[in-house]
Amino acid sequence: MSTGVSSDAAVREAYETDASGLHLLPDLVARPDGIEDVVELVKRAGVDRMPITCAGAQTSTTAASITDKGLLLSLRGLSRIGEVDRETRTIRVGPGALLGEIKRAAAAAGLLFAPDPTSEEESTIGGAIACNASGARTYKYGATRKHIRSLVVVLASGETVEFRRSELEKNTVGYAFAHDPIDWFIGSEGTLGIIVDAELSLLPLPDHVVGLAIPFRAEADALRFVVMARESSLVAPRCIEFFDSLALEITRASDEASRWPTGSGAMVYVEEEITGEVEQTLQRWIDLVEKVSNMEPLVFDGEAQLREARRIRHSVPATMNERGGKHRSTGGRKVSTDWAVPYRKLGAAIGTARALTAARGLEQAVTYGHAGNGHPHQNFVARDAKELATIEGVIEETLKMVLGLGGTVAAEHGIGKIKRRWLPLQMNPLQISMMTAVKRELDPDGILAPGNIL
Ligand SMILES: Cc1cc2nc3c(=O)[nH]c(=O)nc-3n(C[C@H](O)[C@H](O)[C@H](O)COP(=O)(O)OP(=O)(O)OC[C@H]3O[C@@H](n4cnc5c(N)ncnc54)[C@H](O)[C@@H]3O)c2cc1C
Repeated sequence: MSTGVSSDAAVREAYETDASGLHLLPDLVARPDGIEDVVELVKRAGVDRMPITCAGAQTSTTAASITDKGLLLSLRGLSRIGEVDRETRTIRVGPGALLGEIKRAAAAAGLLFAPDPTSEEESTIGGAIACNASGARTYKYGATRKHIRSLVVVLASGETVEFRRSELEKNTVGYAFAHDPIDWFIGSEGTLGIIVDAELSLLPLPDHVVGLAIPFRAEADALRFVVMARESSLVAPRCIEFFDSLALEITRASDEASRWPTGSGAMVYVEEEITGEVEQTLQRWIDLVEKVSNMEPLVFDGEAQLREARRIRHSVPATMNERGGKHRSTGGRKVSTDWAVPYRKLGAAIGTARALTAARGLEQAVTYGHAGNGHPHQNFVARDAKELATIEGVIEETLKMVLGLGGTVAAEHGIGKIKRRWLPLQMNPLQISMMTAVKRELDPDGILAPGNIL
């Protein structure tokens, strides 16, 4: 047994930042490699009232995985990937296992672990569960929550409890939020318990998938097409993604972008799982596209080409992170939004967001993402602290507009520390006090992930 606690400056500095661009230096770092070590650490922290913040791979964009209070608990050492159980279509994994590796283990058994955040090759399953991560294919399969069958959680008391998802189809006992306690921990950003083991649900791997990159001369046409693709009975996409002209510029500049369509003002990327003839499916898409655009779609057929499309897409957030990182010394950074609106309102929301940006004299954000769910990402780069404050002002105005359209301030990356001030814009005092009551019940001394969410 080794709790691996270190106060060494170099070790602490290695865990002081995540993809938010903020830096918070922990007092101590622990890198346990077993559940019993985690229990021991939590019990000790309970006695000392020492705060504990969990970290997976620290790809959080909201500073949820960094802290300057107490202990940073890295779960990367608990990275076991168990055997796939083909009969029950499940796999047991440790929280530190990388999502990409879990997906490959499932695929080797002919099964699919559906959640697909763009960061899947560099993020952990513990982080995905704690953030209820989602991705392009969430359009068809839903976010991580749906795919979690059971969790082993170390509570703030040091007690280890297994929470198994109910298989009931009907239940009228008590309040709905108490029906499935497993759901308290999914999306709780490390504030209610430490996930030390998970049983994941797997689905059959689709036989054949094609992707289409569909260029449009005008952004408005692309956004109109998103609604058509969602509502058409002719096509059955598993994802509907949008790229504005600035995002397209980045993809074209990336090495792998040679096959990406050029000469367009915006693009929609879709994928469909095919059971019948490929040609028929493609023809149905082409018929739909021709109603809006006369530009030729580019087809990505089969796993290798789909991976190519995925790499190209990933170049957008990765490039924006690099661009933001260059301005750290002057107090700047990448600032990303994560809002969503009901999908029919996406065109209006993006239009208003752009007008609000222009009114403050800022460069337009690179806008791309999960349009099928009404969920784009807007990435700004603040070159210094003054510009950062202006961008945050625009984002706040945008979020108020988004809420007016029935939207959310955070659809995918959670609240963390960065978006906490926007929580009261969306949730009323009663909702916040209900969440505070749950937090107090499970973590009365407030030692877990202080500053995240609440
Ligand atoms: C380039 C890029 C692309 C991204 N794309 C997407 C995307 O498409 N979809 C998406 O949803 N997100 C995306 N993200 C955000 C991020 O990758 C996800 O939230 C991811 O799930 C975080 O996993 P992680 O292992 O890095 O967790 P961390 O960043 O280390 O932690 C995230 C949160 O989980 C908590 N946590 C971690 N492990 C545990 C545990 N074992 N028990 C309890 N709490 C724990 C942490 O305390 C923190 O609150 C992206 C990020 C980047 C940088």
